[in-house]
Amino acid sequence: MIDKNGVALRELFMKEFPPTEKTLEKPKAIIECYKEIPCNPCETSCPFDAIEIGEDINKRPEIDFEKCTGCGICAYSCPGLAISIREIDKEAKKAQLKFPYEFTPRPKQGHYVNVVDRSGEFLSEAKVIKVIDRPRQNKTALVHVEVDEQYLYDAATIEVIR
Ligand code: SF4
Ligand code: SF4
Repeated sequence: MIDKNGVALRELFMKEFPPTEKTLEKPKAIIECYKEIPCNPCETSCPFDAIEIGEDINKRPEIDFEKCTGCGICAYSCPGLAISIREIDKEAKKAQLKFPYEFTPRPKQGHYVNVVDRSGEFLSEAKVIKVIDRPRQNKTALVHVEVDEQYLYDAATIEVIR
């Protein structure tokens, strides 16, 4: 379910989303960490104990969507940039997405960026709602963008338009 370029196919990444879209009416962390690797900052950073890996840190993380508040701490704490925060606004027909971002220059609030899929293909331009970039975030910003609701699942990250 991962193609020859290492890109997760839809049937794989959809398993990481909650079973019903209703859950995403509040912000939730979506963890796309498909390999068993010795790593656990997502688990240790979550103040709500929503992520579990357990004693064997080679295990893949599991999230409890009931406990997850969408705070975003795990997203900027994950060294693999494997976590995004996603929320759907049914009334406005918009998806609110927060992606970890390590590059400079940082995107700026109010500017537009490109949203791309897991293959790096362009999906949409998106307005930057906010950039959270505090010193404690280990040089990883959290970039909040708003896109049409149709991109809730397929959006993978952002690219700054130069
Ligand atoms: S978004 Fe916040 S509450 Fe949810 S899993 Fe990540 S750190 Fe925990
Ligand atoms: S911190 Fe990131 S890379 Fe490490 S186990 Fe958690 S999700 Fe996977």
